[in-house]
Amino acid sequence: MIAILLGAPGSGKGTQAKFLSSKYGLTHLATGDIFRNEIAEKTPLGIKAQSYVKAGKLVPDDLVTEMVAARFNSKEGRYLLDGFPRNLTQAQSLSSILAHENLSIDLVVLLKISQELALERIVSRRVCSQCGEVYNIQTKPAPGGKCLSCGGEVILREDDSETTARKRLMVFEDITRPMIAYYQSESIFKEVDAGRKPEEVSVALSMFVDSIFAKS
Ligand code: ADP
Ligand code: ZN
Repeated sequence: MIAILLGAPGSGKGTQAKFLSSKYGLTHLATGDIFRNEIAEKTPLGIKAQSYVKAGKLVPDDLVTEMVAARFNSKEGRYLLDGFPRNLTQAQSLSSILAHENLSIDLVVLLKISQELALERIVSRRVCSQCGEVYNIQTKPAPGGKCLSCGGEVILREDDSETTARKRLMVFEDITRPMIAYYQSESIFKEVDAGRKPEEVSVALSMFVDSIFAKS
């Protein structure tokens, strides 16, 4: 099973990917999370990626593709991709990585959301600086600014400021949106209304995954 979640920043990809990967035993491959870890640990990749992530720009394709390819293992073969691919070049690279491993994409789901709601969600989002747990000042506040799971400090992600969030939404519209056509014509492509409550979106997504497993 190879599934891809597509959607603007703030559409809930990360939340839904965590839910689906634990429900179905898929490996959650989140390029944004990987970059944030590499940046925190000041690895060579992190150092190269840092200025792009901070500015809300896409990290250059060669760095992203190499990183993803290094994490694929055909023996495992059950992946949920979150944040990759993000442009046409990456989509083509993914196709060749998968072909090389004798794998193919089973499901691509677009989480649809309005720009206004996406922006509202991003600027009210907070994350645990230690474990990455996601909070929201309106819907899921962290009491006293401390993480409920690990006690870490809960902060605003550097690229979640309104200015950078607007830039990321523009990058999605200008660069990622045109890539969607690469998958749209195929039967593996689905869409869900991601403006609803997370639990409702999860139900819709589970139905798609269930139907893939029912076929196999
Ligand atoms: P969001 O989808 O909310 O923007 P992510 O955590 O997926 O958040 O990504 C954060 C940042 O990481 C992006 O703005 C970009 O700088 C970098 N990034 C993540 N995935 C990719 C990718 N596939 N290609 C290029 N850059 C990426
Ligand atoms: Zn935490």
